[in-house]
Amino acid sequence: MGWIRHTAYKVLGSNCYGCEKPLQGETNPIWCPECLDLLKPVCRCTTCGTLMEMPVERCGGCVSDPPPWDRLYCVGEYNQPLSQYVQGLKYRRQVWHARELASLLAERLTSPALILLPIPLHWRRQSVRGFNQSDYLAEYLSQSLKEEVGVESQVWSKAIKRIKVTKTQMGLNRRQRLVNLKHAFSLSPRYLARIQNQPHIALVDDVVTTGSTVAEVCLLLREQGVKRIDVYCICRASRPIS
Ligand SMILES: [Zn+2]
Ligand SMILES: [Zn+2]
Repeated sequence: MGWIRHTAYKVLGSNCYGCEKPLQGETNPIWCPECLDLLKPVCRCTTCGTLMEMPVERCGGCVSDPPPWDRLYCVGEYNQPLSQYVQGLKYRRQVWHARELASLLAERLTSPALILLPIPLHWRRQSVRGFNQSDYLAEYLSQSLKEEVGVESQVWSKAIKRIKVTKTQMGLNRRQRLVNLKHAFSLSPRYLARIQNQPHIALVDDVVTTGSTVAEVCLLLREQGVKRIDVYCICRASRPIS
């Protein structure tokens, strides 16, 4: 897919995916330099993804209260233009956003996990929405890793089950979110043997705010002896989205 887009771009020319300005001789066939600038990586805590003045392995919060995962990778904050793409994917099923966002994320991953687990919706919510945006992100991420990085990863979209219908997390603080999510997930018995003692698994979600959702799943994976768990998300929202 990557080379087709590159070739089509060279032959036909193209418009920026972000601002729709015509691209003329840019090295990136998807984004113009201004839009890429908005999406460029900034200094964060490597562990939790909090914005920092300079890059650190562990921020103060991660030292005093370490999250149950090892590293968090994201594309950026939950601001324009990223928030707009994520909403388009989530609420209007604009699947093409998943492809471009996953491709941006893929190039930021150092030693990517070979197993990707999308964070599921409860089946009732999924049947209303008709799809799970994290499934799309994980599938396109796997595709980008293969085409752009040469890494073969698997997506196990049925490995985690959401067993409780939770209230929307919007507007809740960290403590309320933890209560809301208690026992919200389980691991599918069909996947238990495969998950046990895996050296490296990544959870894929569209937006991570306080991290309480992914933390719940991490605890289940740790119980099964998973060694390293990373979190791959599009947006790391520093403040709860309201
Ligand atoms: Zn642009
Ligand atoms: Zn941190």
